[in-house]
Amino acid sequence: MSNHDAHYELRCRECGRSWGNQPRSICDECFSPLEITYDYDAVRASLAQGSSDKPKSSRERIAQRPPNMWRYSELLPLPEGFEPRLPVGFTPLFGAPRLAQHLVGNTNDAKVAAQNLYLKNDAVCLPTLSFKDRVVAVALAQAQAFGFDTVACSSTGNLANAVAAHAARLGLKAWIFIPSDLEPAKILGTQVFGANVVRIAGNYDQVNRLCSQIAEERRWGFVNVNLRPYYAEGSKTVGFEIAEQLGWRLPDNVVVPMAGGSLITKIKKAFDELVKLNLVEDKQVKFFGAQATGCSPISTAVKTGSSEIDPQKPATIARSLAIGNPADGHYAIKTIKQSGGWSEDVSDPEVIDSIRLLAATEGIFTETAGGVTVGTAGKLYRQDRILPEETTVLCITGNGLKTTDVLAGVYEIERPIAPKLAEFEKYLRETLDSVEVAKEAATLVGA
Ligand SMILES: *Cc1c(COP(=O)(O)O)cnc(C)c1O
Ligand SMILES: [Zn+2]
Repeated sequence: MSNHDAHYELRCRECGRSWGNQPRSICDECFSPLEITYDYDAVRASLAQGSSDKPKSSRERIAQRPPNMWRYSELLPLPEGFEPRLPVGFTPLFGAPRLAQHLVGNTNDAKVAAQNLYLKNDAVCLPTLSFKDRVVAVALAQAQAFGFDTVACSSTGNLANAVAAHAARLGLKAWIFIPSDLEPAKILGTQVFGANVVRIAGNYDQVNRLCSQIAEERRWGFVNVNLRPYYAEGSKTVGFEIAEQLGWRLPDNVVVPMAGGSLITKIKKAFDELVKLNLVEDKQVKFFGAQATGCSPISTAVKTGSSEIDPQKPATIARSLAIGNPADGHYAIKTIKQSGGWSEDVSDPEVIDSIRLLAATEGIFTETAGGVTVGTAGKLYRQDRILPEETTVLCITGNGLKTTDVLAGVYEIERPIAPKLAEFEKYLRETLDSVEVAKEAATLVGA
């Protein structure tokens, strides 16, 4: 295992002991999780390269780089001489005025919210259409540096897709462990890359425990077990991009879906680092966590004022978020509370309505996790925890084509008509007759 001489290293989150760089995620002294820390003077020097006008020129230097997550390389734990093989990230951020009008009740408020609501759209993150491509890109860079020829993960679906695809691209072997009830598209979208897929008759938390045991036995790089600290840093690029795409400023609020609770804490770390490097002005950002009610250990803790997780047995269609005992739950709660934010959860029917609402208002087809985020954002507006005049970013983290089964039966399959103009005219008359029915459906979607 190389202990490369880098500008970053592993450090214990609680006792602060330093562990160099190695495939390890837990401190042996106090059993707390490890995290990457950076030599920020080295980062600053690398970004400024001797220029006197540091903040401005660092921004420009970043802005001139190719539009992908590697533009923030100084703030990622990448091995010496790392050459990216895939242009991951730099997904679009754009305003969502029509969605805002549906989420905010009062019409005057809705007009204001329409100016201030944004979507960060990782439904189109390459190569596998979820933000997990970001974390895997960093984890596998380190897996190669550590000399692993086999990578692995426990996954609720999107991580499986990403590890399998990136491993194929890099010529690594992949072993993927999943709960047996995953969506068919997520299983197929892993197998197609030639990965070994092991279905486990159990929930994610049981799969993850098994993977920790296998990691002790085999010299495999488990992206979310022994490589977890490196993996987690990849999530920061969502935060860097939000700030850069808002014109190098921080939003007032972010709404983030939570599974293991890592993404929300890393967006916070990203914003803190940009402030530390004078790339953005300091500002209070409220962090709002989103979960499905059927698996809501983090939002339950926030709502009941607890600082610890009470594990749950997941029962929700939002499978990508179905982690009953989240590894970073404690830190997610802390991030949310210290920021002045909040956490909410939504029922499965609300998830489906929200997927349809986002698609019908903004043309974005998200998976169940995105439905959780949009539904939660609506609740937060209605509770006045998010105000219309505040700049608010919703993180849409995955693509709807992977979870089409949750919409089965929602839309009628039309009977085919003959390819004749007269047939179409007749069909149109019948359809216009049922226009009242259509109107009613539209109201339902907007509710
Ligand atoms: C994994 C995942 C999340 C949550 O990520 P954590 O860092 O585990 O909280 C959110 N959305 C989607 C689509 C995911 O796959
Ligand atoms: Zn420690």
